[in-house]
Amino acid sequence: MKQLLTSGQVWQEEGFRQLDILIENGVIASVSENINEPSAEIIDCKGTYIIPAICDMHVHVGEKVCGLDLADDFTSLSRLADACGISAIGAFITERSDNDKKKKSLQAQYEQEKTKAGKDFKRKIHWHLTPTLSEVKDVYPLLKDGCDLKFYTTYKPNGIYRSYKEIAQWMKELKDLKPRILVHCEDDEIVTVMSAFHPFHKAFDHTLRRPEMAEILSVERILDIAIQYNYPVHIVHVSAPEAALLIKQAKKSAPVTCETAPQYLLLNETVLQGLDGHRWLCTPPIRSEKSHGLMVELLQDSLFDAIATDHCPYKKADKDFNHDIPAYVPVGLAGLGATLPVLIENLVKTGKLPLQKLVPLLTSNPAKLMNFYPQFGKISAGSQANLLILQEEPLQEAVPVIASLGDTHNPWQNFTHTLNYKPFEVAHDKQS
Ligand SMILES: [Zn+2]
Repeated sequence: MKQLLTSGQVWQEEGFRQLDILIENGVIASVSENINEPSAEIIDCKGTYIIPAICDMHVHVGEKVCGLDLADDFTSLSRLADACGISAIGAFITERSDNDKKKKSLQAQYEQEKTKAGKDFKRKIHWHLTPTLSEVKDVYPLLKDGCDLKFYTTYKPNGIYRSYKEIAQWMKELKDLKPRILVHCEDDEIVTVMSAFHPFHKAFDHTLRRPEMAEILSVERILDIAIQYNYPVHIVHVSAPEAALLIKQAKKSAPVTCETAPQYLLLNETVLQGLDGHRWLCTPPIRSEKSHGLMVELLQDSLFDAIATDHCPYKKADKDFNHDIPAYVPVGLAGLGATLPVLIENLVKTGKLPLQKLVPLLTSNPAKLMNFYPQFGKISAGSQANLLILQEEPLQEAVPVIASLGDTHNPWQNFTHTLNYKPFEVAHDKQS
């Protein structure tokens, strides 16, 4: 079955060009001007922008986080991906520390998750692994298989904390293979000290207990180690402008990259002060008005390699159960479905960021970081026909922003959008 998308403004790395796209059985056969293919179904795309579907390298799905099942499993995430045009995700596997079969546990979890995802989620997945018991030699086959690593410089009580020394040791032992290491940077000592000063009475106290300084100092330490071993490190969910500036500087000396998330660009800490403030608890905390303004400026200056959501949708009941004891509220927000509409509505349409700068942050750059490029994140011959079609004409009426289709709170509940977009639907041959 052939389909021919004609006269759309097609994303071509350097910008948009009016081109035709010929698709055959879900794969792009060619992209050029005035393609003539009489046997193809013609789809007129005049008045549209066509971009690759979104690649989000930071999505929590199907895991137990803090002992709780998330509201999205691979089945509901699949429906969300269909609805909003997600082609690839980076998902996480944290080694269960209660597993006796030390050497086999992470491998077994990986096989199990891969099987589950392969059955219920027809999208590309890159796996980020957090070993808690396994050593380099145990994890090595999985890293050779294409997985990378994720470490945390905080969360001691959860059993996933790693000291800077331990992270340096992993880099040293992996100097030949050099799989990317993702790091959640918040300095645990600073968090401990600040938490002692600021008891957790209200949701807003989270911002004082985990201040920007904790992130900045931890990023600085990790960058020093990355430079020492010339190691590919990716700093996740950067929320502090000063941390982003340190990463910019370090890029001159080591292959370091970073992501930020929509909540650090568009929300500010006042959401934590409302009656339902606990529903916006995430880590790092949502920052001040001043900081998120600066984050947008740094985004304009191309300091970030990717925007990823850190989608972590707790069930409503779990998030609300201890609402008056914020220390017991699980931290994390839903976000996957919201990315494109909130960013286009609030950054592109307001003139803060050109669409040309946003597209690579959501498509080609994360696809490259997950080693899926050019099959994903690119519109060219041989790539998968995972496309998003954005109409130039906005919707006549604003609609709510949907972050997840699971039973979870929506951190974007106060946002609406008029972006008229939908994923391209591939037609398949009927006889097969
Ligand atoms: Zn995360």
